Amino acid sequence: MAVLGHVDHGKTSLLDYIRTTNVASREAGGITQSIGASLVQTKEGKKITFIDTPGHAAFAKMRSRGAQVADLAILVVASDDGTKPQTKEALEYIREAKIPFIVAATKSDLPSAMIEKVRSDLEKEKISFEGRGGDVPLIAVSAKTGKGVDELLQTISLISEVNNITVSKTTTFSGVVIETSKGKSGPLVSIVVHSGNLAVGDEIKSEEVAAKVRGIFDWSGKAVKSVTAGEPAQLLGFSDLPPVGSRLWKQKEGENLPLKDKSKSFRKFETKEGQLPVVLKAGSSGSLEAILSNLDQKVLVLASSVGEVNENDIFLAKSGKADVYVFESKVPSGVAKLAETESVSIYKFDIIYKMFEKLAEEMKKGEEIILGKAKIIAEFPYEEKRVAGIKVSQGIIQKNAKFRLIRGDKVIGEIKILSIKKGKGDIDIAKQGEECGLFFAPQLDFKIGDDILSVKNK
Ligand code: GDP
Repeated sequence: MAVLGHVDHGKTSLLDYIRTTNVASREAGGITQSIGASLVQTKEGKKITFIDTPGHAAFAKMRSRGAQVADLAILVVASDDGTKPQTKEALEYIREAKIPFIVAATKSDLPSAMIEKVRSDLEKEKISFEGRGGDVPLIAVSAKTGKGVDELLQTISLISEVNNITVSKTTTFSGVVIETSKGKSGPLVSIVVHSGNLAVGDEIKSEEVAAKVRGIFDWSGKAVKSVTAGEPAQLLGFSDLPPVGSRLWKQKEGENLPLKDKSKSFRKFETKEGQLPVVLKAGSSGSLEAILSNLDQKVLVLASSVGEVNENDIFLAKSGKADVYVFESKVPSGVAKLAETESVSIYKFDIIYKMFEKLAEEMKKGEEIILGKAKIIAEFPYEEKRVAGIKVSQGIIQKNAKFRLIRGDKVIGEIKILSIKKGKGDIDIAKQGEECGLFFAPQLDFKIGDDILSVKNK
């Protein structure tokens, strides 16, 4: 069961409410760590595993790897807000996954709740609701009063029965990675067990990495000896993080995919001071080789491959705090969008030296500390010379200091501040937020909108 929906539409609150009223184990009251999933037992004794999908990143990753992680989805829509971009995105994921779903109209306790708007908004997205010719249930719920939550759980049970959703009877272990993080005792990998059992001491592997399970925690963070089909768990024992969406097998059981060359596909992301981590994509292996063999030693290549930028590249870049550099290759719009939500920058080039220029510029940035920065916001004549009216945006502007005049990302030239005019007098220092007039030499041809910048190497 995956829970999807627009941010702030009440996914977490709804899950929290379900968890506190229906937790499988009462000891789980003080949940401290999130593993991206929780196990809930209904009053009828049914166990349901909920997978949180914050920002849908996990869902997109799993989809890109062809892993089906959920059998059923809840599309959360706030009834005081209606459908939003992420609602539509979530709907797309659900449709692509071809799984049944339920719409939960959350915050139905609010006076501003408009359940009918939620319905009509979604009908515009071609959802056919129960009672209106379709089979998608719409349930008004509130995480505040608990209204509709029992009905939601019953509907989940019902839909599971109708669609024959049961825990796999296969005894061979398989699992899907839903989240990864670095904990104090090493990489932590959250999974949902699809089939079979997994116990401490088992040797497992994914396409990319292998591990011996050193510890298993259930969804509430409690150490357990084993987990079984349908349950979420967090594993210790990996030395490298497997990508989210990876499938896992036991070494001894039906492993039908060879391990990839680890050194090529995965590295540890430990960037040293002064290093610039990047993910490289190129249109051909020839150009990729040319780039790789000409890179500055300070550029740390986390991954490089030929082809379009894909979702994995973005997640890789994110986990390594890297930017993605693309040479003569495409960035599909879905991937560009994902990069935006994950705050990963993608730089595209068709001219190789431009790419090296950009890399050089980024490396420099990493080595500099901004002492002072200001924007030129006005211009006025003063004793037949031009004075730049500026506003200090960062640091300080000091008399006699040297600055660069910058337009966009171009450096126009070096200047020296001769005097700083404020009101009728002169001052020596202008601080952040302050507006003043600058008289500098040489008299470069500045324009309104230019920046002046002074930096120091670290
Ligand atoms: P998420 O980003 O989708 O996980 O949304 P949250 O669960 O964090 O909820 C966002 C905001 O909506 C929070 O301020 C909640 O307190 C509020 N909220 C969530 N569910 C309800 C509800 O059923 N009723 C009311 N009145 N507020 C709610």
